[in-house]
Amino acid sequence: MTTVGIDDTDSRTRGMCTTYVAHRIATSLEVRGHDVARVLLVRLNPAVEHKTRGNAALALHTDAPVDDAFAVARDAIADAAEVGDDRTNPGLVVAPGDPAAVPDAVADFAREAVRDHHGIDDALARCEEVGYRSEGWKNGRGRIGALAAVGAWRAFDGWTYERIAYREPSRWGRERDVEHDSVFAAADAAYPTVWDTVDRAAGETVCVPHTPGPILYGIRGDDPAACRDVAARIEGESIAAARTFVTNQGTDAHLRDADALDALRDGRAYRVDGTVTRAPETERGGHVFFAVEDETGRARCAAFEPTKRFRDRVRDLRVGDEVTLCGEVSDGTLKLEKFALRERVTTARTTPTCPDCGRTMESAGATQGYRCRDCGTSAPGKVAVPIERDLDPGWYEVPPRARRHIARPLVRGSWDAPTRPER
Ligand code: ATP
Repeated sequence: MTTVGIDDTDSRTRGMCTTYVAHRIATSLEVRGHDVARVLLVRLNPAVEHKTRGNAALALHTDAPVDDAFAVARDAIADAAEVGDDRTNPGLVVAPGDPAAVPDAVADFAREAVRDHHGIDDALARCEEVGYRSEGWKNGRGRIGALAAVGAWRAFDGWTYERIAYREPSRWGRERDVEHDSVFAAADAAYPTVWDTVDRAAGETVCVPHTPGPILYGIRGDDPAACRDVAARIEGESIAAARTFVTNQGTDAHLRDADALDALRDGRAYRVDGTVTRAPETERGGHVFFAVEDETGRARCAAFEPTKRFRDRVRDLRVGDEVTLCGEVSDGTLKLEKFALRERVTTARTTPTCPDCGRTMESAGATQGYRCRDCGTSAPGKVAVPIERDLDPGWYEVPPRARRHIARPLVRGSWDAPTRPER
């Protein structure tokens, strides 16, 4: 077996897409009579500054010999990559042997690439150490993602699927013609095995991108046949090709468990507990901010405007609520992807009322408690009164339209508390 890893072939402005380059390499190998067992679409650390969009890298597992696979991949990248874009720096890494048995150094590199940051020198040193062939175009930064994709099959378990349909090249850059109702009908028929195809509350077909690249739509889910079925039911412009990718999308592979808030660092994503200490406030632009604390520190948290109705759940949090938060930290702020309300505050401390006349008492002076002047009654301090809570304990998430590729949708199940999946 040979593994071909590629990355960084696309451009935000000029189109192209690394999944498409991988598809072309797979097709070339198949045309030459080789078997392609699977194509992996690996989402790496979403906080990486150099990413074009979703920080994807690709790996193909094939029975082609290393030299043949290398030559086919190199030609495809040279032909398709948008190297005219300053930010596009393609990389290719080809490895011999079973992809499930790559050396520890390669599997570790893949894990770190999803949760942390690598330098290009580190990628090159590891390729050399394990004897992998590699090639870089321009600064060759793509070899970071390419090596990570090579290590991914051993590094991760819990894979999902995406069926991607590609447009006729003559239509790239033009408006996509996809029949809206057919997408909703197909999505409903296969939900929840197939997820994040549409955003029902927003009436949006999230499986159809808006970028200039070759993808017409991508159907994500837990079962490859179900993804293919949904894709086959979608009506619209003719497609040039389609392929099913095995992917770490929807797995939360980017989240690391943090024991304490003082462990949080920029450029990484976490699952961490805290107590709400500053009530949510909506600031300019519709972004909602609040703060949590634990015995080690404090974190500012945000639900940004594009997360839409998720912000209503966040606004329902109260000071004193105990929560688990998931999201990436950048500029010292934890950008929420989902949260669980663990223990909720059910009372509020308020000024006591007079037991005789029912009116609110007045302060009797600093540390003197409260009293009712008319009736002569008094109370030692504030009293706890029950409050109505709209938010039940459990997990809440951003809607499909705001989901990060790698974030695990609640509908996939196996959570430690009740869930309210967004669909
Ligand atoms: P698309 O989603 O359209 O395929 P992209 O968002 O995947 O684009 P790339 O064009 O592939 O973005 O650029 C990401 C760059 O960052 C690549 O050069 C890749 O090698 C590098 N990279 C990926 N993960 C890491 C990491 N953890 N540390 C440092 N560099 C990384």
